[in-house]
Amino acid sequence: MQIAQNSVVAFHYTLTNDAGEVLDSSEGREPLTYIHGSGNIIPGLEKKLEGASAGEKLNVNVSPEEGYGEVQEQLMQEVPRDAFQGVESVEPGMQFQAQTEGGPLMVTVKKVEGDTVVVDGNHPLAGQQLTFDVEIANVREASEEEIEHGHVHGEGGVEH
Ligand code: ZN
Repeated sequence: MQIAQNSVVAFHYTLTNDAGEVLDSSEGREPLTYIHGSGNIIPGLEKKLEGASAGEKLNVNVSPEEGYGEVQEQLMQEVPRDAFQGVESVEPGMQFQAQTEGGPLMVTVKKVEGDTVVVDGNHPLAGQQLTFDVEIANVREASEEEIEHGHVHGEGGVEH
């Protein structure tokens, strides 16, 4: 069976950046599952997996536009230390959910300078050229319930 709209796909992957550094991998874990065509995974990867079948290996390059977006300078912001009430120690690398005009946004602390904290609302992989080494583990059709919910049920998915 080939991957098409509403296929439930399970795949293993290794993600590397431009410099060849491994950023993430499913090695030693269960394969990642998603419903094809539901926007569960980044568009650049989803598009390239179309038509592939179980056992197939693919090397997929994804540009920032089709990945996690370009780095947006305006998402780097200085906020007062007071904004982190209840947090004993604010350290670079910590992630917080921030309330913004556009809704909740995950931000990463970049720097702490006295009473000022520099946070970055860009996705950690924004602006990066990404390479996925993919091996398709399984392809099946989604159930109507899965399509309705927009996520995978059972193995590798949501149990409810
Ligand atoms: Zn569900």
